[in-house]
Amino acid sequence: MTSEHEAILRAASLRVTRPRLAVLAALHDHPHVDTDTVIHLVRTEHPAVSHQAVYDVLRALTDAGIVRRIQPMGATARYETRVGDNHHHIVCRGCGAIADVACAVGHAPCLSASEDHGFVVDEAEVVYWGTCPECAAERNSH
Ligand SMILES: [Zn+2]
Ligand SMILES: [Zn+2]
Repeated sequence: MTSEHEAILRAASLRVTRPRLAVLAALHDHPHVDTDTVIHLVRTEHPAVSHQAVYDVLRALTDAGIVRRIQPMGATARYETRVGDNHHHIVCRGCGAIADVACAVGHAPCLSASEDHGFVVDEAEVVYWGTCPECAAERNSH
């Protein structure tokens, strides 16, 4: 896995560094986590990596398109390594859990706005909101 992440960094013309590999590994294993969780995950394995280094790495990887930043309304930003497929997310209103939702209509999904106002549309951001199974079970038990 490390060598795969090294190749991803090199392909984006980014230097391969331990903090960058650590952040990629953390996000690969734990998709859709927020910055604090990334810091915790990275520092558990690499105590020498500073908070600031993790912030810097997240910004560099996001800018390079290696990491996708998602920010559901009213929630903290989350990060994931699944990029380039324009998948959508379903978010629990109760606990903030996030899951991936594949596009429903194949390639170049959701790009046909019913009214484009003359804009050239290149991306559609869709967030499904609901209640996750854990929160639903919790609710039913009360
Ligand atoms: Zn929930
Ligand atoms: Zn995702």
